[in-house]
Amino acid sequence: MASRFNHSCNANCEQVWNKEQCVMEVRSCTDVEAGQELCVRYIDIRGTLSCRQYLLKKMFSFDCVCQVCSRGTDDDSDSRRSEMACLSDELDHVEPGEEEVSARSQLRRVKKLLELYDQEGLHDQSSRLLAFEAAAALEQYRGNITGSHRWLQRALQCSELIRGSEHPDTRQLRERAEELQTLALNQAAEKGEYYDGVYQVLPYYMAYYLGFLAMQIPWTLAWATPLYLLIGLPLDPYRFGVFVLTTFLVLLFACVAGSAVGAKSRDADGNRAVLMPLIIPATLFSGYVIPFDQIPKIWLPFYYMSPIMWAMSILETSLYEGVVFEDCNPNAPMWRRRCWATGEEYLEHATCETAQKLGVPGMLAVCTVYLLVGLLLNIRMIHRAVLDGNV
Ligand SMILES: [Zn+2]
Repeated sequence: MASRFNHSCNANCEQVWNKEQCVMEVRSCTDVEAGQELCVRYIDIRGTLSCRQYLLKKMFSFDCVCQVCSRGTDDDSDSRRSEMACLSDELDHVEPGEEEVSARSQLRRVKKLLELYDQEGLHDQSSRLLAFEAAAALEQYRGNITGSHRWLQRALQCSELIRGSEHPDTRQLRERAEELQTLALNQAAEKGEYYDGVYQVLPYYMAYYLGFLAMQIPWTLAWATPLYLLIGLPLDPYRFGVFVLTTFLVLLFACVAGSAVGAKSRDADGNRAVLMPLIIPATLFSGYVIPFDQIPKIWLPFYYMSPIMWAMSILETSLYEGVVFEDCNPNAPMWRRRCWATGEEYLEHATCETAQKLGVPGMLAVCTVYLLVGLLLNIRMIHRAVLDGNV
């Protein structure tokens, strides 16, 4: 019986095999007027007129004279149908799960495909069903359970229309949709609980950062003390204190920045891809790779923004402040000698005026501000990326 149906390039019926009952069912996929011929499609109709004609001739030995084909060449329809073929082919070849960016662009493709089906006025529901299922899988991969459930609902409606509500595939879709709905409700409840009880997150952060500090303070002392002594820096409690405090602040800032970026990226490569473009200019314009007085004016903003510069300026200032170089005659004018008589003279050349004005306490405050900004960024990133379920 099913083999008696004629072909149409915009068929109003679809054939579905029911494996449980071992019957081929033909159901209408759109409204049908009394007396209107019922047709199914023999081939994938997402192709140009000439392409469809060629396939039907080759596979079924007839020239299609369906309503669409008898209108003759229609450039708009041809371009829409060939774009559908390309888009669905691209979607068939990509599995969700490579990258979030590609999941997003694949979703755009699905939406474009659905738009094209509507613009072309295709009755075909099985192609729409595949698109809805693909969109549901992509949204689920992105962690958007509610979105995924919405797409699956639309897939279910299609399946009920063309396969019937008791078809095994429809039942399976319904079960999946119900599971997703439960998951979405649970997620919404958890999110509500989390947002309603921010106070509950505060002890978590306190414990996290206190634990972190408890580890980092002895660790910094353990490696900074031998390093300080090995370099042969002066045995002066003030200078040693500044050295340890600065290295500690830099270390914390690096950890906080790394953790903030880590919350958004999937692996070490993703982390590096964000951090390296920030670290390279911060190092290059820190005043030590290129000396401060040789940095072109246009690059100076990078110098002032570099946390490495501030940390190095603190170390240099604490080391050279108040130092007198005995082998250099301070009474000779600067232009006549090739040396610096005092630490201040050296610092004037090696560091910027702002650093000299701020002094060690001021610069430590700058580093602390950097750390606090990094910390806030870190908390925000963790909230958005981890607790909201986007990673
Ligand atoms: Zn046709």
